Amino acid sequence: MSTSIYLHIPFCKHRCAYCDFNTYAGQEDAIPAYVNALIKEIEFLKRQLNGALDVSTIFFGGGTPSLLSAPQFDSILRALNSAFAVSPNAEISLEANPDTVSQSQLDGIRQAGVNRISFGAQSSNSEELRLLERTHDFLTVIEAVAAARKAGFHNLNLDLIYGLPEQTLASWQTTVQRVADLRPEHISAYALTLEHGTPFGRWANRGLLPIPDPDLAADMYEWTTEYLQQSDYAQYEISNWAKGEEQPSAAGLPSFACKHNLQYWRSLPYLGLGAGAHGYADGMRYSNALRIKTYIDRLINPEAQDAHYKFPQTPAAVNHHKQTQVDEISDYLLNNFRLTQLGVSNTDFKIRFGAGLAEFFPAEIESLLADQLIEKKTSENSEVFRLTPRGRLLGNRVFIKFISSSPSSSRLS
Ligand code: SF4
Repeated sequence: MSTSIYLHIPFCKHRCAYCDFNTYAGQEDAIPAYVNALIKEIEFLKRQLNGALDVSTIFFGGGTPSLLSAPQFDSILRALNSAFAVSPNAEISLEANPDTVSQSQLDGIRQAGVNRISFGAQSSNSEELRLLERTHDFLTVIEAVAAARKAGFHNLNLDLIYGLPEQTLASWQTTVQRVADLRPEHISAYALTLEHGTPFGRWANRGLLPIPDPDLAADMYEWTTEYLQQSDYAQYEISNWAKGEEQPSAAGLPSFACKHNLQYWRSLPYLGLGAGAHGYADGMRYSNALRIKTYIDRLINPEAQDAHYKFPQTPAAVNHHKQTQVDEISDYLLNNFRLTQLGVSNTDFKIRFGAGLAEFFPAEIESLLADQLIEKKTSENSEVFRLTPRGRLLGNRVFIKFISSSPSSSRLS
């Protein structure tokens, strides 16, 4: 089974007012040391695994990975290729802020082997971008997309956020239309969440920020689903749409679906490298030290290099736990139900857990089917449970139903 690799790049030029990611502004001086530490973490895994790991996707996420130079990406990718059996067809993605890329940098990144870019566009409306404290305007997005195309990128994603304070349906529709007109292969649209500890969260608590209207956000979502479908984007996940022929091996999965994220949504293994990164491998979930300096110190410390850590942990990991079967089932359902077409395959569920979904959760399945939150699709050799359009809007109700129930105990091994 192949594994995916996520590398976290926790640097940003400015911290946006809604963001609760593990990222830091004004610490760019630490980028060279951080890149060295990432390479040390890769080399540590290389010694642990002895090269025996098939890798099908690599994802540089952040933060703002595009703050790294092309030679820095080149050195990290060389280390990854030396440590693991990276597939020649591997999807190698990079998250970028549109105002942090130049033509020469994109040319260099493409030459280093990156073949997919995800730009954080968020909105085409200048007022909304200002409110979010983004450091770019929509013209910069248009220019970044053109530069990426010129550099030879044939797989682009644009990220959007809807349900902003005081955002109108018309303004959101304009954003989606302008983004679709740029013809990216992939579009992600996530609803804004007011996260505790962010300026947005604090302003909302003090009544200084109008709380987004959830009914309006639902209207935006429904309109987006219809509009993108008419524009030849296939929805394959609650918040993700892609172009491309349907994959012969998987109904409803367009060829430009993000292969890296599919690894998460199918509950398959991935290694998380870098400050605050999370990983899941060999039935273990773990997370690395959050702070940049702590992460670097833990990896350059020669004693840590000699110490014995059992895969998938490295000296950077500060938390880890072995998953119970109940954990595994909950995570599996939370992830796989997000896949709007593929859903939860009973065959795959049986292979993983020894019995079908309805045998583990008879009452929950019956009630969710009755409430028309999920549907069952049966064909000659498969049975699939997936969210209905109504269930996509009320996905949390479906997830809570499974998480708050114990799987039928006679089925647990
Ligand atoms: S650029 Fe992205 S990661 Fe950085 S602060 Fe803004 S939202 Fe967060």
